[in-house]
Amino acid sequence: MTDTIFSKIIAREIPADIIYEDDLCLAFNDIVPQAPMHFLIIPKKPIVNISDAESEDKTLLGHMILKAGEIAAEQGHGDNFRLVTNNGETAGQTVFHLHLHVLAGRAFAWPPG
Ligand code: AMP
Repeated sequence: MTDTIFSKIIAREIPADIIYEDDLCLAFNDIVPQAPMHFLIIPKKPIVNISDAESEDKTLLGHMILKAGEIAAEQGHGDNFRLVTNNGETAGQTVFHLHLHVLAGRAFAWPPG
């Protein structure tokens, strides 16, 4: 996997508004927020997207989802948030390092555009 903006954020080569970090993952506010709360949670392991993840990543992926909920709760949105991952270009993925979008603070339409 080649370097991305997100691997550079992990390496502290470019700045980000980091709100959580542990051994496995990093969370930071999206630079173009689509809701009052919009942060991304990414694995430190270089995984392109869910399609690229393997069964050995099960614990990591579960950890990221649980952390997403915990951080949303810390920000006052524990009961109502949207968790999204865009997997592949047609689905809207623009940064090819796995990330979960966590959004809250407004009503969301369904189906998504
Ligand atoms: P996606 O289109 O699903 O790949 O999402 C990529 C997200 O990364 C978009 O919501 C961008 O606004 C966000 N993004 C890109 N560069 C940065 C950055 N330097 N810091 C924070 N978020 C970023």
